[in-house]
Amino acid sequence: MQHFNIAIDGPAGAGKSTIAKAAAERLGFIYVDTGAMYRAMALYFLRQGIGPAEESRIAAACGQVDITIRYENGIQQVLLNGENVSGLIRDEAVGNMASATSVYLPVREKLVELQKQLAAREDVVMDGRDIGTCVLPHAQVKIYLTASVEERARRRCLELQKKGQEADLENIQETIRQRDYRDMHRENSPLVQAEDAVLVDTSDLTVDEVIARILEIAAEKGIKAKK
Ligand code: C5P
Repeated sequence: MQHFNIAIDGPAGAGKSTIAKAAAERLGFIYVDTGAMYRAMALYFLRQGIGPAEESRIAAACGQVDITIRYENGIQQVLLNGENVSGLIRDEAVGNMASATSVYLPVREKLVELQKQLAAREDVVMDGRDIGTCVLPHAQVKIYLTASVEERARRRCLELQKKGQEADLENIQETIRQRDYRDMHRENSPLVQAEDAVLVDTSDLTVDEVIARILEIAAEKGIKAKK
């Protein structure tokens, strides 16, 4: 049986995970957060004391890493060699290491294979950077979700402040710019809008408005919300 695949790509902080999660729930699909997989790999490299530029050590380490995905009450859990690391991969250091190490082919090959297997088994909303272009080129729906650097930095700042953490808007903007540059200019599967993806700019939209737009695009392709 052919499964429905919805691919959502875009830069860091565009709201992909919030939107993809909500859309998946409304459609009765599984949400697959591929960034979490790159983060779990990055955590492994950090724990091994491997630096982001040590390409041959990273390639060798890929053979020792087993990443698996499990769902608990519909929420994705990422396991690194059997350990649930979902709560350990969200900080900035792991995100930056994920961005730096996702440029290497052995890292990508390993995770892309896992992502393809998941999408072949289930109806999924999958978010990432290369889903519409590389992982699921035949996805029935492709969305490129973006927002201005200023707006993405503002959202990230609010998020950190809510957690009681210090947040410097200028610093955050600079980190986002660097991450965008690296993700968009790498040799292997750079972040680009797929030719057949629909562009959704979330800068001036509320979360509910963006979800409604995604469901509308899905409905045009014959995928109807269950809730
Ligand atoms: O989306 P998130 O910030 O969790 O992703 C962390 C990093 O993993 C990104 O900056 C990107 O470099 C990398 N990534 C990727 N391909 C994906 C998902 C994430 O290269 N499909």
